[in-house]
Amino acid sequence: MVRARIVSQGEELVTGQRTDTNATRVAELLTDRGVRVLGGVTSCDEVGELVDAYRLAARDADLVVSTGGLGPTSDDLTAEAVAAAFGLALVHHPGAMAQVEAAFVRIGRPMPAVNAKQALLPSPCEVVPNPTGTAPGFIVEAGGTPVVCLPGVPSEMEPMMADTVLPWLERRFALRPALRRTFRAIGPGESQLQERLDDLIREVEPRGAQVGFRATIPEVHVKLVVPAEVEGAEALFEAAARGIADRLGLDCFATDGATLPAALGALLVARGATLAVAESCTGGMIAQLVTSAPGSSDWFGYGYVTYADRAKTDLLGVPPDLIREHGAVSEAVCLAMAEGARARSGATFAVSVTGVAGPGGGTAQKPVGTVWVGYAGPDGASARLLRFGRDREANRRFSAFAALERLRRHLVRADEGTLFAGRRRGPPPTLTENEQI
Ligand code: ATP
Ligand code: MG
Repeated sequence: MVRARIVSQGEELVTGQRTDTNATRVAELLTDRGVRVLGGVTSCDEVGELVDAYRLAARDADLVVSTGGLGPTSDDLTAEAVAAAFGLALVHHPGAMAQVEAAFVRIGRPMPAVNAKQALLPSPCEVVPNPTGTAPGFIVEAGGTPVVCLPGVPSEMEPMMADTVLPWLERRFALRPALRRTFRAIGPGESQLQERLDDLIREVEPRGAQVGFRATIPEVHVKLVVPAEVEGAEALFEAAARGIADRLGLDCFATDGATLPAALGALLVARGATLAVAESCTGGMIAQLVTSAPGSSDWFGYGYVTYADRAKTDLLGVPPDLIREHGAVSEAVCLAMAEGARARSGATFAVSVTGVAGPGGGTAQKPVGTVWVGYAGPDGASARLLRFGRDREANRRFSAFAALERLRRHLVRADEGTLFAGRRRGPPPTLTENEQI
């Protein structure tokens, strides 16, 4: 198995100003390709420290991947340190220079003289093109161990890994990518899912499958990995994947990387339907989530932020008497908001949220975290009381996801039978209603 170490460099990382997300992401990408990541080294921006870090990383690894320090400023020392660590010269690289110049043409700005520094690279090296920024990456050989150096900016590092470095590594080491699938679930917590999958994990892990959990509030991702070297990898992967899907049931909204809004959007598009949203305590968060899904204009057109009672009446036609009688945070108002949004926008479905986000405004009957989420559609309307009892931001975030998730569940249930046809062997899954969403 190919063994790798990761180097993260930057003053921000060692002074606690920035979380090292690059190391996490690089580790994930390498692990997915069947590379064993031994560990990481983090260094400040001092040449001596960096030289030590690179030597340490390359000592017992087959591969080193480094991020950071490729910019034009005086604290960007990666090229210098790598050259010093492995006895290479630092020379002007015309190919890299052309890429830096082309990057400035792309953004329509003259190139400052300091950027010429980004073409001073250890020699010999291979240049890694940077399609979204100015700093080219490079790969040098340190006594047979490739050292891959990429920029620190995550949105530059990631496409460079995907477009150039990973295909290069696959060829260089004849890697056999692991079989992998991530099940994105919403509703149950990590420990509940662990319990639900316990029997399956105990069955498949001794045979070589790995099942991992990652909570990204309010979702939990279950990741199944079967390394290609495992005996009968494909059959094991299929059996384990089916087992996970059956146990997650309706709580799983995607296995293809889709976000919750994108998964809901696909269900809406499949039936030629559209969505409107009516928000009170989430203040536009649902509209923000929905419009972050590429292509959402196919199924989303109207978002109403109705924070004040009067806005609920003016924009959604919620009768003032209804608000007076039941209060703004009530089933009746939640339903009226969804129905009003649907009627005023002409959308097929609407979702609504009204709740007490906190920290103030709670009462004995309606404590902070009391939220009604609802939806309305051609087949009627429904609202549900949820009690999150968290801090303001978490209450708002949970509410926004809950509103989308409630409609998704409704649509999947309506599609049941057709959705699962042909995919399942045994009886249909037990649909679990979770406590939180
Ligand atoms: P630049 O051309 O922007 O200077 P660079 O390759 O020199 O890029 P750094 O200067 O080390 O990279 O970092 C640039 C920015 O990228 C940092 O300010 C930080 O926001 C982000 N960054 C750097 N390293 C990491 C990391 N390990 N994890 C997450 N973000 C990082
Ligand atoms: Mg920099």
